[in-house]
Amino acid sequence: MTSLFEYAPAPESRSIVDVRPSYGLFVDGEFTDGTGSTMKTVNPATEEVLSEVTVGSSEDVDRAVRAARRAFTRVWGPMRPADRGKYLFRIARLLQERAREFAVLESLDNGKPIRESRDFDVPQAAAHFFHHAGWADKLDHAGLGPAPRPLGVAGQVIPWNFPMLMLAWKIAPALATGNTVVLKPAETTPLTALLFAEVCQQADLPPGVVNIVTGAGETGRSLVAHPDVDKVAFTGSTEVGREIARSVAGTQKRLTLELGGKAANIVFDDAPIDQAVEGIVRGIFFNQGHVCCAGSRLLVQESVHDELLASLQRRIGTLRIGDPLDKNTDIGAINSAEQLVRIRELSEIGEAEGARRWQPECTLPDRGWWFPPTVFTDVSAAHRIARDEVFGPVLSVLTFRTPDEAVAKANNTTYGLSAGVWTEKGSRILSITDRLRAGVVWANTFNEFDPTSPFGGYKQSGYGREGGRQGLAAYLQGDDR
Ligand code: NDP
Repeated sequence: MTSLFEYAPAPESRSIVDVRPSYGLFVDGEFTDGTGSTMKTVNPATEEVLSEVTVGSSEDVDRAVRAARRAFTRVWGPMRPADRGKYLFRIARLLQERAREFAVLESLDNGKPIRESRDFDVPQAAAHFFHHAGWADKLDHAGLGPAPRPLGVAGQVIPWNFPMLMLAWKIAPALATGNTVVLKPAETTPLTALLFAEVCQQADLPPGVVNIVTGAGETGRSLVAHPDVDKVAFTGSTEVGREIARSVAGTQKRLTLELGGKAANIVFDDAPIDQAVEGIVRGIFFNQGHVCCAGSRLLVQESVHDELLASLQRRIGTLRIGDPLDKNTDIGAINSAEQLVRIRELSEIGEAEGARRWQPECTLPDRGWWFPPTVFTDVSAAHRIARDEVFGPVLSVLTFRTPDEAVAKANNTTYGLSAGVWTEKGSRILSITDRLRAGVVWANTFNEFDPTSPFGGYKQSGYGREGGRQGLAAYLQGDDR
């Protein structure tokens, strides 16, 4: 499809980031060598090796947990809450000051478009620190009981889709409530967490309050299993979430799990089609579809199916795929070769099961990992592409005739993280959202986030909430509110 405008390249310079050839672990306020092996982190858009990072061993994890325990007992736990808040405000301001550096590094290591890392990931990460900084000295008034107390040491494991933002979602509430942390970033995206470690040093955060231990699944497993961890917070696949729940069962550890999703984005026939199309695009192609709450199942009322689909395909034809550092890019690279294999496999299964695949004409770069925006029609609820989390730019379209059918189909999933409703009628928004079993429901918008709003799932999407007042409870002693 020919686009309306030809865009000249508008590359963001990468000279602002200084990627070191190798990194140690950040333990007790310092970068130190690990005792394990090393691994390479790669730019998914070019397959260029960016740096070599440490694979934290169980010994390294133990060292980090001990540092976090010391910091909790001696410094961070006893500190006046208002003073903890000052550190968080300082970190938030430093994230803003160094925003461009974080954004470029995130796009290099993750493959996401600079437009998103610059305008979404990094500002949202700073917003989470600002939000929680404000809570630090107001916890007595949060409705979570008088003088709520921290849990102790939090072991936090995060995925690769929003490396910096997930770090903020985990670290900011933990610190604001007086806990100390050991965080393990994902194997393929460790660099912004290591840059964040520098920010902790710059903010003069007391040693041991934040520890970053890079590594792969085994490092995460050691952290989760460590006997001196009081709280485990995990975001990632449902499969690993299950394993973690098993390993934590029967211990004193508190656990929050933010797992997969297969969100329904429901469009009624009275919805403004152009607006809905923008919301559908944002719902599934944002961050290449590597989004746990992505609107990956489009449920469209039968009477507007053809009109909406034509409009959607026209719009998808204008999306620009390519260099994540180009400011015009809408869709960047798939984060890893493994993830690309998974997306391809599920798409092939979709076709084999009888769904129809549509992709716009587009040229993909020769190097790196790419997958074009894809729409499947003739999808039935039993198809794997309608049930499994693809975690890529792949939309499945299903239809419905009545509101009841829409609700039944939307809820027909093992997940329950998010959903969307598009309609002109306010009363319909209220009645439908009330019946959707999803932790977050957007109306006439999609993929909107705010630190004041709790986020989390039902069913196999996990339990516990992050953000908002509810997110604080997950890091405080007392009953699970
Ligand atoms: P994982 O769930 O394996 O990874 C999430 C994090 O957990 C990573 O830091 C990972 O380390 C770590 N980890 C892996 N195994 C263990 C373990 N046994 N104990 C503790 N920590 C562990 O996700 P993948 O990256 O493998 O992605 C696979 C699929 O999961 C995707 O295709 C997607 O469908 C889904 N996914 C969902 C996410 C969500 O937000 N809902 C996020 C990411 C993936 P490391 O990466 O270093 O191996």
